[in-house]
Amino acid sequence: MKYQRELDVAIHAVRRAAGVCASVQKTLGSSTLRKEDRSPVTVADFGSQAVVCHALQEAFPEDPVIGEEDSAALRLPENESVLAKVTEAARQALPAAAPASVCAWIDKGNAVGYSDRFWTLDPIDGTKGFLRGDQYVVALALIVEGELAVAAMACPNLPREIPGGPEKGVLFAAWRGGGAFQAPLADAAPAALQPVRVRTVATGAQARLCEPFESQHGSRRAVAAIADRLGVEAPSLRMDSQAKYGVLARGEADIYLRLTSRSGYIENIWDHAAGALVVEEAGGTVTDAAGRPLDFRRGAQLDRNAGIVATNGLLHDAVLDALGAAE
Ligand code: AMP
Ligand code: MG
Repeated sequence: MKYQRELDVAIHAVRRAAGVCASVQKTLGSSTLRKEDRSPVTVADFGSQAVVCHALQEAFPEDPVIGEEDSAALRLPENESVLAKVTEAARQALPAAAPASVCAWIDKGNAVGYSDRFWTLDPIDGTKGFLRGDQYVVALALIVEGELAVAAMACPNLPREIPGGPEKGVLFAAWRGGGAFQAPLADAAPAALQPVRVRTVATGAQARLCEPFESQHGSRRAVAAIADRLGVEAPSLRMDSQAKYGVLARGEADIYLRLTSRSGYIENIWDHAAGALVVEEAGGTVTDAAGRPLDFRRGAQLDRNAGIVATNGLLHDAVLDALGAAE
């Protein structure tokens, strides 16, 4: 496999970063949620980016990384105590971490423009889910010549199986042409990676939809109208983060709709790159709401695309038709 080392490094990096996030999340009390104190998510977000970028820096020092965070705010004198907490969190994975090295690792993720080979990272995708104790993902993807090549997603709170499996923590991984896999997040043995496949559901009536948990992240009304046209009967699975792509890839949902085009919101590449490859390699299809392929040659944003349609493949044309008819 051409990208074996990239895949190994990516899996190891997101696992370690997810460990940092999970231990920060354990410290979240309900009082934090009530006060809407975002500092824990800030600490975990920066800590996660530092850990992943450190791994990429060691293994692939030449590779640019387009990550969601940068350390500018952390370096301000008034945020010294936040930086101390980030450093402490990062030390769980990197015992030698110091404030200056943590900032430098975070800023390894500061690339913005397109290049022929780069990584994209969301250190915590689904921050609102993280704060609620729900779904969030550490998502990392390698893009080569505009094509998704390697993906790794650590989902610390995702049940191994839905509905309601007692055991939580799933890793998804995929590489172009090689398939998509999941493993228990805590099990690093290569044999733990098991293939995942989309479900072969061909009618709306049999299909389950998933959409963002946060109603501001997509038009629920537009999604409901499409579901109606397709004859979908099951209630939508509402979930934060790219865990949605994971549940689609393993056949627990058949359609992921994110219809944000009317608000003019432009999607960021780190919110979709890893998940899209996992779905494609599981046999699914991912486009925007107009049926265009996601264009990863534009830098940090999917500014040539609007909305997201991910399906098991069999339902893709029907969903695009329903979207066209609803215009
Ligand atoms: P999700 O967990 O699927 O709701 O997606 C979380 C991501 O939604 C965050 O990482 C944000 O980048 C993104 N986001 C923020 N605001 C919006 C918006 N108005 N429309 C769509 N996505 C958004
Ligand atoms: Mg995100």
